[in-house]
Amino acid sequence: MSSSEPFDFRIEYIIDTIKDAQPSVVGLQFPEGFKRRGTAIADRISEATGVEILISANPCYGACDLDVAILDNVDILFHFGHAQLDDNKYSEKVIFIETRSDTDVTEVVRKAIPEITGKRIGVMTTVQHIGKLPDACEILEAEGKECLIGRGDSKIAYPGQVLGCNFSVADGLDCDEYLYIGSGQFHPLGVSLATGKRVLIADPFSNEVREVDPRKIMKQRSAVIANSLDAETFGILVSTKPGQYRMELARQLKELAEKHGKTAYILTMDLITPDQMLQFRVDAFVSTACPRLAIDEVGRFSAPMLTPPEFEIVIGEREWEELTFDEIRGE
Ligand code: SF4
Repeated sequence: MSSSEPFDFRIEYIIDTIKDAQPSVVGLQFPEGFKRRGTAIADRISEATGVEILISANPCYGACDLDVAILDNVDILFHFGHAQLDDNKYSEKVIFIETRSDTDVTEVVRKAIPEITGKRIGVMTTVQHIGKLPDACEILEAEGKECLIGRGDSKIAYPGQVLGCNFSVADGLDCDEYLYIGSGQFHPLGVSLATGKRVLIADPFSNEVREVDPRKIMKQRSAVIANSLDAETFGILVSTKPGQYRMELARQLKELAEKHGKTAYILTMDLITPDQMLQFRVDAFVSTACPRLAIDEVGRFSAPMLTPPEFEIVIGEREWEELTFDEIRGE
């Protein structure tokens, strides 16, 4: 990793792998945040190995988003930016390049210390900073705190790792509060809603510490639920992406709708976008795909978009007080 490059794309490892395996064609797949670096990385690999390279241009937001179509045309697919999920072990062709960050986390964890009120702290992060958790724990312990790291379920590759749809590392952790190391709001918000405990964000990129406030998002979700209470017809969305495919859940939700005298249709597609849904005349959608869809794209669809737990509230199978984030859990 060069000093100016905070992420490790493991180019030398990729080059060695290609020289050993002698593939004819390799694929590269990048998440949206890394796509602009794709052509320069392809140049470096191709100059060193001469291999033909195909770059996946399909949208990619998570390890769930493996480009299955490109697999037929490549001998190896290097998927950047995510750790392997249990769902996508199915192809031997895929090599996950986790793209770890070299960014120091100690400064921001030190900055968080005065904000931490509890003694037993559950610490978590995304795969990019997972190698830095021992540094964070060392600082917390030097301040007399206990550092607790959860194992998570089968979708979680490393202890302490959270996904935007899986907060299982927080399950059963006997802690007073949580410290999330990373940028962005969604993961720590999910932990806050899943556990009801205080969550602090220590962002090593901006060097900022802030507390998660779930009130705004809960208000927004309550409005979506309220707008769906009169719905008679539901479109239940199933994404065919390997890590998002929840057909069984969709069938259960359809049955539930029918039990309550409602009409429901299961709509399947790869990438779910507001434009694609425009032609379907339903009163509300229920997304069984990426749980972030309903939250991040709120107001952009032609009808309210509910998560499965929200749908259960709408049809009276769950209490409002039991509103929580949707998760895609493993074993
Ligand atoms: S389903 Fe959504 S939150 Fe989960 S890994 Fe995929 S993109 Fe991330």
